[in-house]
Amino acid sequence: MTAHPSVRGDVAVLVPAAGMGVRLGPGAPKALRLLRGEPLLVHAVRRVAAAPSVGCIVVAAPSDAVDDVTALLGPLVASPVTTAPIVASETCGAAEPKLEASSESPLLLVVAGGASRQASVAAALAAVPAEFGIVLVHDAARALTPPELVETVADAVRGGHGAVIPVLPVVDTIKEVDNSGIVVGTVDRSVLRAVQTPQGFRRDVLTSAHAAAVDEHTDDAGMAEKIGVPVHTVPGSEAAMKITRPFDLAIAELLF
Ligand code: C5P
Repeated sequence: MTAHPSVRGDVAVLVPAAGMGVRLGPGAPKALRLLRGEPLLVHAVRRVAAAPSVGCIVVAAPSDAVDDVTALLGPLVASPVTTAPIVASETCGAAEPKLEASSESPLLLVVAGGASRQASVAAALAAVPAEFGIVLVHDAARALTPPELVETVADAVRGGHGAVIPVLPVVDTIKEVDNSGIVVGTVDRSVLRAVQTPQGFRRDVLTSAHAAAVDEHTDDAGMAEKIGVPVHTVPGSEAAMKITRPFDLAIAELLF
């Protein structure tokens, strides 16, 4: 893998964006649905790129939309002081980036995603240039995540934590139910947290966690837990809400 001496920060952010978003109703892949006239992915990448630590963003796009996503995101990371394009398309597994970032803006790579979120993250991880020792994983569906949260998570990894997740307290009472919908018990919510992205990792931790994973996980920290890595928590943000259903999209429209 080639060196990229002019990178802007020490953090690579993976953005899995290859999901179909069935729960959002029929239409384009979720990351390409519009929020205030722009795709969710554009909102998400714009905010990630605004975090000063971020030197590289790798987006996992639907496999038939890699070129479209590359064209869509190019203008977001082009520095006002350079006209050089800094977007390179990669196919899954072909991990050699072709272009370098300027000091003004992060390197952006677009790879083909996989059949599951986990496979999409693995494809993006394989494309991260060697010099990035901190890797964050951020869902495109959390389109309004503030750049400050990206920095908070990256800082915690830089400070020595191998795995870091942003969390919020659970406000609802949570009950466990059986197959027929009968309540089995009430869970103590004081020990529960709702987990967001970006989740941050020392690169070797994320690589080992993915290599060891046998089952599908809904987040990357779950894989780190499986290999015995302590997962540190930092305060999350209401604005980092996951846009999954039409109601979430309506709420996000109001958050602008
Ligand atoms: O399906 P879920 O809501 O968990 O998706 C979370 C994120 O993972 C979304 O940004 C989605 O686009 C992405 N994803 C992916 N590849 C898949 C499935 C989901 O990149 N095959």
